[in-house]
Amino acid sequence: MARIQYRYVKGSVAIKDIKVMPCPFCGDTDKISITSRKDYNRLYKAHGSATIALTCERCRLDMYEHDFDDFDYVTKVRILVDKWNRRAGE
Ligand SMILES: [Zn+2]
Repeated sequence: MARIQYRYVKGSVAIKDIKVMPCPFCGDTDKISITSRKDYNRLYKAHGSATIALTCERCRLDMYEHDFDDFDYVTKVRILVDKWNRRAGE
């Protein structure tokens, strides 16, 4: 699955106004990627549901948003990033 690589900005990864904290496992900030909107939409059309994954490309930590309610892409990204950031803050 192709992923978007988000840019590294001052200790966090910026996705519009969404900030992703460093990887909770290895602390990396510049190798964090997330399922692209294009892939999400393609899977959603094909299967009627889709999962978004947030991945640290350095240590391969994956976190998924499995909620199959009809949230749009950005809402799912926000839910997943909130989970990631809570883990990162522990
Ligand atoms: Zn990591």
